[in-house]
Amino acid sequence: MPSAELTENLEAVGAALARFRDQPIQHMIGGEACAASDGAVFENTTPIDNARIGDVAKGTVDDIDAAARAAHGAFPAWAALSGAKRRDLLHTIADAIESNAREIALVESFDTGQALRFMSKAAVRGAENFRFFADRAAGARDGLSLPADEHLNYTLRQPIGPVGVITPWNTPFMLSTWKIAPALAAGCTVVHKPAEWSPCTASLLIEIMQDAGLPAGVVNTVHGIGEVAGRALTEHPLVKAVAFVGESLTGSHIMRQGADTLKRVHFELGGKNPVIVFDDADLDRALDAVVFMIYSLNGERCTSSSRLLIQSSVADEFLDRLEARVAALRVGHPLDPATEVGPLIHTTHREKVCRYFDVARAEGANVRVGGGIGDFGAGNYVQPTLFTEANSTMRVAQEEIFGPVLTALTFEDEAEAIAVANQVAYGLAGYVWTGNSGRSMRVARDLDVGMVWVNSENNRHLPTPFGGMKASGVGRDGGDYSFDFYMETKNVCIAMDTHAVPSLGKG
Ligand code: NAD
Repeated sequence: MPSAELTENLEAVGAALARFRDQPIQHMIGGEACAASDGAVFENTTPIDNARIGDVAKGTVDDIDAAARAAHGAFPAWAALSGAKRRDLLHTIADAIESNAREIALVESFDTGQALRFMSKAAVRGAENFRFFADRAAGARDGLSLPADEHLNYTLRQPIGPVGVITPWNTPFMLSTWKIAPALAAGCTVVHKPAEWSPCTASLLIEIMQDAGLPAGVVNTVHGIGEVAGRALTEHPLVKAVAFVGESLTGSHIMRQGADTLKRVHFELGGKNPVIVFDDADLDRALDAVVFMIYSLNGERCTSSSRLLIQSSVADEFLDRLEARVAALRVGHPLDPATEVGPLIHTTHREKVCRYFDVARAEGANVRVGGGIGDFGAGNYVQPTLFTEANSTMRVAQEEIFGPVLTALTFEDEAEAIAVANQVAYGLAGYVWTGNSGRSMRVARDLDVGMVWVNSENNRHLPTPFGGMKASGVGRDGGDYSFDFYMETKNVCIAMDTHAVPSLGKG
């Protein structure tokens, strides 16, 4: 018997999805909704029961070309708009996102399987992204004054041009705003290629932006398959830079694809992030954070702490308590407000996650909780899973599983914790729990990761740099770091007319 809230949410999402059912999601190119150049579509399904949501335009190389030309055509006027006008428009977009936040959250939850309790925050965070970069639009071009003895140097920042934004299917709305808002604030125009498994809210976003007054062609959305539409975007000569969020392997493809046109790239890629819990930590708070950072968002989260490194002296007790919490997680319909873990994005992805259950058993890890699909109905559900008695060389301790699956390892001392934490190809985030401030600083310094949280779960402050080392990424986002990517820095050197100009050809 569904709860009253679930029934109400299902009715609301049913109404919101009618448009996606009745006609295919279209591209938006130069301000006009349009089908693929050859009329092709692909089917979009919901992870809740794998039923069809609707069809989606399957972007072609020609569609990407049209979108890149639209972005190129819109660029001079958009780049020339004053920072204050761009700020006002981005705030208007943020207002509209807030007004539509419930619809966005419901549709995102239905399309991705992510629990509504998290998606409602992600929709609001999308508006925050626009507000944050709106307020920085006016100063985005500010440079430095670098005086020398007889010259004054100053720097200017100018938008790089039309950029490509390629986003994944996990929290797609929030991640799209995280890329598009700074690009617009910098003065760039955009071609957005959303993930094929979660196209709905990208379509809502472009409509919201255009209804808010964004000029035609400033953002263009082309749906489609990564290897075709995504690839064409990364190869297009009018596209000056590509901001990509997705798998590490796709990142290396994109680097190759963009080589001929010398594309500037920014990559936010995969992770196998450690949470290190020392015996002097506040273990109650650490336990909450350990559970939250792998089982929220279905574990389909780049910064999820998918490796627990627990100090041996407290491991038995901590793992007993962890086991009880994992076993008690509420798996269910993502639109049920009580649900903590929903279905995985796609049958293909569920198969991948389930293969790791077999890998863990074959490698000799203990499947202490879960390890199967459970009995949750027709959707892409898996049981929240905990592997223990694992060692660092096992595949379940090395590879990104991207599901509600935690691998626990034990360590004896600080040196071993750091060595094991760094013993993976990835380097996105690390979480350290300790009551010793000196240790927290030593470990933070020695982890090969782009971001460290001490005695905290992932807590985002928008001015701070976001990104990874090693196979987890290239470059940083956030605050002024985003503008470094979306803008060119130009140096202007002016003489004071006092220095000796070299004089040749005088015999
Ligand atoms: P993916 O790499 O399969 O796809 C991401 C996007 O790239 C999609 O839009 C896809 O269509 C497109 N694409 C695929 N092949 C392409 C190609 N050859 N050229 C151009 N575009 C191509 O990733 P996914 O499965 O959608 O997302 C999950 C991954 O994203 C995980 O590895 C996760 O860790 C990562 N991720 C990283 C961050 C971060 O900030 N570091 C954030 C979210 C997700």
